[in-house]
This record gives sequence, structure tokens and C-alpha cells, in this order.
Amino acid sequence: MTLTGQYFIAGERRGHGEIFHAYDPARGASITDIGFFSSDERDIADACAAAEDAAVSYADLPLERRAAFLEAIASEIEGLGDALLSRAAAESGLPLARLTGERGRTCGQLRLFAAEVRDGQWLKLRIDHADPARTPPKPDLRLRMIPLGPVAVFGASNFPLAFSTAGGDTASALAAGCPVVVKGHPAHPGTAELVAGAITRAAAATGMPAGVFSMVTGTGNAIGAALVADPRIQAVGFTGSRSGGEALMKIAAARPQPIPVYAEMSAINPVILLPHALASRGKALAAGYVGSLTLGSGQFCTNPGLALALEGAALDAFLTEAGALVEAQVPQTMLTAGIHSAYEKGSAALAATPEVQTIARGVHPTGPHEGRTALFSVAAKDWLAKVELQHEVFGTSSIVVRCADRHELLAVLRGLEGQLTATLHMDEADTDVARALLPVLERKVGRILANGWPTGVEVGHAINHGGPYPATSDGRTTSVGTLAIDRFLRPVAYQDLPEALLPEALREGGQGGVIARIDGAWRLA
Ligand code: NAP
Repeated sequence: MTLTGQYFIAGERRGHGEIFHAYDPARGASITDIGFFSSDERDIADACAAAEDAAVSYADLPLERRAAFLEAIASEIEGLGDALLSRAAAESGLPLARLTGERGRTCGQLRLFAAEVRDGQWLKLRIDHADPARTPPKPDLRLRMIPLGPVAVFGASNFPLAFSTAGGDTASALAAGCPVVVKGHPAHPGTAELVAGAITRAAAATGMPAGVFSMVTGTGNAIGAALVADPRIQAVGFTGSRSGGEALMKIAAARPQPIPVYAEMSAINPVILLPHALASRGKALAAGYVGSLTLGSGQFCTNPGLALALEGAALDAFLTEAGALVEAQVPQTMLTAGIHSAYEKGSAALAATPEVQTIARGVHPTGPHEGRTALFSVAAKDWLAKVELQHEVFGTSSIVVRCADRHELLAVLRGLEGQLTATLHMDEADTDVARALLPVLERKVGRILANGWPTGVEVGHAINHGGPYPATSDGRTTSVGTLAIDRFLRPVAYQDLPEALLPEALREGGQGGVIARIDGAWRLA
């Protein structure tokens, strides 16, 4: 597939105006083989108008057609072959093996959402039959979920495939029946163009309305701001920085019609090393912790940026072991120059904080944008006094908080901002303490793990990748897994409508294989 540098508006390639280039973080140089055009205000307006035009016809297609579209996207992405992987590697610095796995996840989640569309339970069908004899008479009420309308998706830099142009937000919005306008991530414009081309071809091949998908591109906040402000956009999916997510939330809230923003922003994912586990297998825990911390140069939203344990000999031994492992860590290239410099700034600020001890630093970088692993430690009372110590430092940096006793451990957990995950490392003898922590953790995080590591998110039906603010802007939802479809749906109730006007699924016996709540009881027709 040859790159053209163009973006996609409703099935058509376009490109005029300003040009920007991709950047290879491993070489520390621009990739000048092709220039990428920046979309302008007219492009954004055209994409949104086409999405609005497509909204009703796309929503009304038989579910089988919608599912076939999602599957066709997966096949088209696979058809891009190694060209996609090598372009993504050049633009992100990520190794080919990781990107191969990520492509599998991307296509797997598109197919999972295709199956979800066919399954239809997300329609949440409900029928309450009329009872004219009741006083007052009871109306006939029928309810189903319908798509919100056009959705703006901001791809993530750290998952150029699985959370970008055809990533989780796009898959779940399309599955819900919403046209999508992607704001291509400027860190991987060639990858974005290849994937957007695949989606566009899949849309044409499966007979989708043209406006079902567009992608605008460029650098600078104005493009994303204009997209979120466009009155035709009805919801936003975002993964990235807290400042970016919060800026988009403000724009969405200030619109004459405010809209929901589902932003996944920042988390430090506490790992709690309970006393018996730490005493019995501290060495293995240190290896697991450093492995999880350094995976993918720490550029995961689930990266363990915080560990907690009670002070004592077992924690001292753990810190010695983890420190030795960190010192041996060879630096890895980070995704962008901006992310690298933010990491350098964040880890330097921690190192310069008087209350924070630097336990170990990794091997000195030699490449242009390599991140040097950093392990810090701080007393719980000092951590509690300095709110900035819990700000995400995106990359391979983590702080171990030393707690004097269980009360201090609980105080730290209570003082945490909202998180995506919390991990308990526990032996059987730690069960009572773990049980006491659970109610606090449940209120703080979206996923609680035992004896595992938070990096690595299973895409399935029972996963929750979300959490209270600022992990996400709306802790009631997930951005990974089939439940993500709910973000882009809303209920409509139909009262006393004649059968001929009702959607098929709400007619008598029209539920197919979908379980419906009929007169209060769950029934499978
Ligand atoms: P980002 O700067 O938030 O950018 C994400 C997307 O949003 C880009 O398309 C960006 O495009 C757009 N954007 C950002 N700020 C905006 C604004 N004020 N108005 C309109 N659009 C805006 O994220 P990033 O470039 O991927 O990484 C930067 C930092 O984000 C990292 O250092 C890290 O701290 C954090 N991050 C966190 C996660 C996580 O999973 N928690 C993942 C990735 C990144 P433009 O710049 O062209 O506007």
C-alpha cells in the first residue's frame, strides 16, 4: 500500500494545505518520504455533516450488515500485511513483535464486537403490556437502546493499532451503530492513513453509507477542538493526557448541547505488597514488579507507578532486589519526543524532591528518545503531604511508599485519586488484611487483581478498563471489552405506538434470540 499523505472524508481521499511529517523516535529524525496534509475547518465540517447524513441509515441497517462491516475492517487490516507493521514500528519505536500482537488484538476486538452486535443483548429490550382495566389505565411501553449519533474518536499514541484509528473506541462506536470521525494521532500519521484506508475499503465493500467513517489529521489542538465543538458530534472517545482529556471535556461541556466525553487519562495503578507475600516471595515479587514497570518502556495506562508495603526487613530486601534489577534495565525508545521529554521532566522532579529517595536508575540511554528506568521510595507520611507525588509520570518510573502500619496503608489508599487498577499481592495468611482493603479499593479503582500485574488487559466480556476520575472522565463505563458499546447508546421508550410503527425487535414475538424483559420477567423468545 502506498501512502499519499491524504486523509479521508466520507470515503474520499483529500489533501491540501499545510504539510507535516512523521517522526522516527528511534533515529530522532523526521520521516521525510511523505508529507501529510492537515485537515482544515471545512474538512472537519464536511466529515461531521457526512456522519450526520449517515447516522440514521447506518443505525437502521440489519445487525448482520453492521457485523459484517466490522469483520471486513479486520480482514482489510490483515490484508495490509507487514507494510502496516513496519510503518507503525518506524513511527512509534515499538518493536515488530509487540506490533504483531497488537494487530492481532485490534482485529480480534473488531471481530468480538461483530459477535456482540449479532448477539443483540445490548439492545436491552423491555416490554410492559398495556392494562386498560387498571386505574389509571396502564399504557403499552416498549424500550430499546439506540445509537447516540456521530462519535469523535481520538486515537492513542501508545497503541497505534489497538487504541487508535480502528481501535477499541472506533470498534465499539461502530458496533453501537454510530458513524465515527477519527482525529488521527499526529505521532503515527502513516499508520493512521493505512488503517483509515482499510476502514474506507471495508465500508465500500459492505455497502455502508459513505459518512460512516472519516479521519481528519494534522498537528495542533485546533483540529480536535473544532471536531468536539461541531454540533453534529454526539459523543467523544479519547485516550491520552490528562490535560488533553480535560480540555476536550471543557469544550464538550461548553457546547449549547453538552455531550459525553469518555476520556481515559492518567493512572498510577497501585500494587500492594501484603506482609506475608512480601516475606515469603519478595524476590519473585521484585522481578514481577520491575518486569511490569518496564514493559513497553512503561508506556501503558496500567503501568504500576506506585507500590505500597509495610516498613521492615522484607521491604528493605525487596527494594534492594528491585533496585538491582532496575540498574540492569537497558533503556527503550519512547513513543514521541514529547512523551520522552515529559518523562525526563517528571522523573527529574521526583529525584529532586527532598522527601523522595532514588533507589536506582537504569542504564544510561544512548539513543535519542530512550527512557531511563527510575525507582523511588518515600515514607507514607511524606507521600500523603505532597499531592504531586501521585501524578502520573508516563514511562518506567515508580515510587514505593513505605507505610509504618496498616492504618497508614489505608490512609494512602484513601488518599489516592481514581485509578484503573489496584493489585494485591497476598498469601493465604494475608486474606483478612486484603478483605479489609477491598471496600476502599472498590471505591477507588475499576479493576482489582490478586497476585498478578496490571499491565496486559484482557479484551472480553467481563473486563472493566475504566475507573473513577482522573483515571477516566466517567467511571461508570469501560473503554475495553464488549461493555464499551454502552457508552454510545441511549434508551428510547415507545408508548402506545401501533405495531406497524414499532421497531421489529419490539413487536410481539419480534425479539429473535434476544432476551427481553417482558412484563417484568426476563424471557427468551
Ligand atoms: P495527548 O497529548 O493527550 O494527545 C492525544 C490526542 O489528543 C492527540 O490527537 C492530540 O492531538 C489531541 N489533543 C491533545 N490535547 C488537545 C487539546 N487541548 N485540544 C484538542 N486536542 C488535543 O496524548 P499523547 O500525545 O498520546 O501523549 C502525551 C501524554 O499523554 C503522555 O506523556 C502521557 O502522559 C499521556 N498518555 C497517557 C496515556 C494513558 O493511557 N494514560 C496514553 C497515552 C498518553 P494534537 O496534539 O494534534 O492536538
